[in-house]
Amino acid sequence: MQDIEQIAGKVRAGARVNRAEALALYQHAPTALLGQLADEIRARKHPERVVTYIIDRNVNYTNVCVARCNFCAFYRPVGSGEGYVLGFDEIFRKIDETMALGGGQLLLQGGHNPDLPLEWYEDLFRSVKARYPEFKLHALSPPEVIHLTRMSRLSIGGVIERLVAVGLDSIPGGGAEILVDRVRKILNCYNKATADEWLDVMRHAHRAGLRTTATMMYGHVETPEERLEHMFRLRDLQDEMGGFTAFITWSYQPEHTELGGFEATGVEYLRTLAIGRIVLDNFDNLQASWVTQGGKVGQLSLGYGANDMGSVMIEENVVRAAGAAYCMDEIEIVRNIENAGFTAKRRNMHYEILGDPVFLEKDVPRMLSLATARAEGDASVPAELVQYPARSRAEKARRSRG
Ligand code: SF4
Repeated sequence: MQDIEQIAGKVRAGARVNRAEALALYQHAPTALLGQLADEIRARKHPERVVTYIIDRNVNYTNVCVARCNFCAFYRPVGSGEGYVLGFDEIFRKIDETMALGGGQLLLQGGHNPDLPLEWYEDLFRSVKARYPEFKLHALSPPEVIHLTRMSRLSIGGVIERLVAVGLDSIPGGGAEILVDRVRKILNCYNKATADEWLDVMRHAHRAGLRTTATMMYGHVETPEERLEHMFRLRDLQDEMGGFTAFITWSYQPEHTELGGFEATGVEYLRTLAIGRIVLDNFDNLQASWVTQGGKVGQLSLGYGANDMGSVMIEENVVRAAGAAYCMDEIEIVRNIENAGFTAKRRNMHYEILGDPVFLEKDVPRMLSLATARAEGDASVPAELVQYPARSRAEKARRSRG
């Protein structure tokens, strides 16, 4: 084993760690030391002691999914009575509510629904941009893009080009899980996108001029070496393209999933975040995942390499389905940032500072729980869906019944 103090000295001198050094730190460095190293890097990159956050809304346009990842408690199979697709008018209402809270973006992700062709996404994006020209669409993680390549028989570049033409602004880094195919096969998410396919979507997005984020969901079946392999693959792509704005990691949420198991502890989260800051020396921003870790660990993250508190979210469906239901509105996020000794600033997806907290300038309603995609029991089917040909047997049967 390499000497921990020697590797720590290398990190302090601003040098890059290799895989063996990263593993030695991750497995053997005291948690306080890992935190110090990560905090020093954060301070070098962000000496102004500003911690940012974004006001946007996390909207899941459908929960119907053919991928069936075994760690996911959110999806419903095709034909399920609990499956939904949001109507364009429902999405417009969500945008109106987001704007009332000072938000300017949707994080739009959903299941791989065989009855939503590329044209549905194009019409949605086009109509959002026609109604709200300045509003941003941070939409469709790489596996959703891969799903659309299969539905449309277009290339990755072809799908991205079509989506950019109708208003796609940036791509969220979801669906990465662990970018190692051995792990993806066990999680039943290899078919939705291999590690190379996920990275390739990001490569094409960056080439098309889009910025994207990168994520990592750990704490299920992967080894520590595989977590680091994931980070090194991201670091390599960032060296190549430079298009990632931020890295976000969170622990697997096991409740109500087929895979089951236990959730990683808070210390494991902080250690993983800190090693992320050390390995990903070419990423400017690391988000704290308070939505899975809770506000208190989210706040502690600011001492373990994070310089951003993520999003106020407004709505959340995926993590809630797996048992976590934390909520922080803008007032609470700012309180946590300031209490940790930082100045809080609003940002956009490009991490450009937009200004001070909105609630200092105008009255905004308090938000004490996150909204859901739909009210419970609402099984309505959007009127516009009939404009798109049904592909699944279940949807064809539903339509023939009228
Ligand atoms: S994680 Fe995404 S792709 Fe996988 S089953 Fe859930 S909704 Fe589908």
